[in-house]
Amino acid sequence: NGSLHEVDPEVAAAVDAELTRQQSTLEMIASENFAPVAVLEAQGSVLTNKYAEGYPGRRYYGGCEHVDVAEELARERVKALFGAEAANVQPHSGASANAAAMFAVLKPGDTILGLDLAHGGHLTHGMKINFSGKLYDVAAYHVDAGTGLVDMDEVERLAKERRPKLIVAGWSAYPRQLDFAGFRRIADEVGALLLVDMAHFAGLVAAGLHPNPVPYADIVTTTTHKTLGGPRGGVILSRQDLAKKINSAVFPGQQGGPLEHVIAAKAVSFKVAASEEFRERQRRTLDGARILAERLLRDDARAAGVSVLSGGTDVHLVLVDLRHSELDGQQAEDRLHEIGITVNRNAVPDDPRPPMVTSGLRIGSPALATRGFTAADFEEVADVIAEALKPGFDEAKTAALAARVTALAEKHPLYPGL
Ligand code: PLP
Repeated sequence: NGSLHEVDPEVAAAVDAELTRQQSTLEMIASENFAPVAVLEAQGSVLTNKYAEGYPGRRYYGGCEHVDVAEELARERVKALFGAEAANVQPHSGASANAAAMFAVLKPGDTILGLDLAHGGHLTHGMKINFSGKLYDVAAYHVDAGTGLVDMDEVERLAKERRPKLIVAGWSAYPRQLDFAGFRRIADEVGALLLVDMAHFAGLVAAGLHPNPVPYADIVTTTTHKTLGGPRGGVILSRQDLAKKINSAVFPGQQGGPLEHVIAAKAVSFKVAASEEFRERQRRTLDGARILAERLLRDDARAAGVSVLSGGTDVHLVLVDLRHSELDGQQAEDRLHEIGITVNRNAVPDDPRPPMVTSGLRIGSPALATRGFTAADFEEVADVIAEALKPGFDEAKTAALAARVTALAEKHPLYPGL
């Protein structure tokens, strides 16, 4: 019954070092966030010990009376948060949620239409060696090379040509809002179901700062750990008439015992997401991304060959275009890492460089907004990033920028009690 430090000092050291990394650097990976202590507490609770195959009130194991309470709270809260008729809170991850949603309404060999991975889609939207690409016949739509926006004419043309059973609207790297009404109209024209994967922007939707896909889509999937700021996990929302199929696709179709400790943590995060404090945080998230885009569109950045895809952002991330920079995506990621800013390199549409190198960066504001960053703080971060991406980077400049990063990190302490 010893503590982690007593039982396993090696793992404890890795956990401690990770906490220090999170506290002392600026996390700008667009898909990451910092879960509140209350969420960490629920996720680290004794609920991890419980088997609970089935659903609240209809379990295949005894002793589920307390986990039933937590799971019911999670279901009711997430339905209320997004105005959905039905919710399944058991998917272990976003990928599991998409797998179960597709398993519920498709047969192997059916056609799906999703955004190309190389243009900002997710692996589970039809990538060749993902389950979605192996099980289903995939048609992929793209963003327009000029505007950087999803080409709805292509979506319509492909839908009419390929007659998909399911259209997937959603993205992992896209700086704008999707036209849900347009997707719905096209889906109706060809008799397809519409799945919206709002994994990235669910927090913005919860805060009322992004259109809600629930009224348009047959199924909406999400992760709970990105803008939503909860534990790692997935959720499927749907109309009531699809709920039975979806529940049986999750269990027993895809999963065994649900992670009730994670489900309890999801319930906590849905409560937090309904608060005014959360809405205020999402407003700062949007401000942060917009401030970064504006800074990287200024003349000095342009002179360094740096630009912003689609000319800005409406969401929590910016896609930096480095095709005309002396830096490739890998070098830019490394350079920011050196000064204490964590981002990920990201392919730009029709990227001339290979996927492990790329010609772009994806930079997000959610984790810093959670840390309490204000517009003034985001202006300082944006300036540090713009300076780091310019030519003439040497040791003195590295040290000066790293000191500005440290000052920002110290201004907004993370997990002070841990
Ligand atoms: N859907 C989208 C749009 C995503 O961006 C991601 C994660 O990056 C996922 C699904 C998958 O989530 P997970 O990593 O939890 O499986």
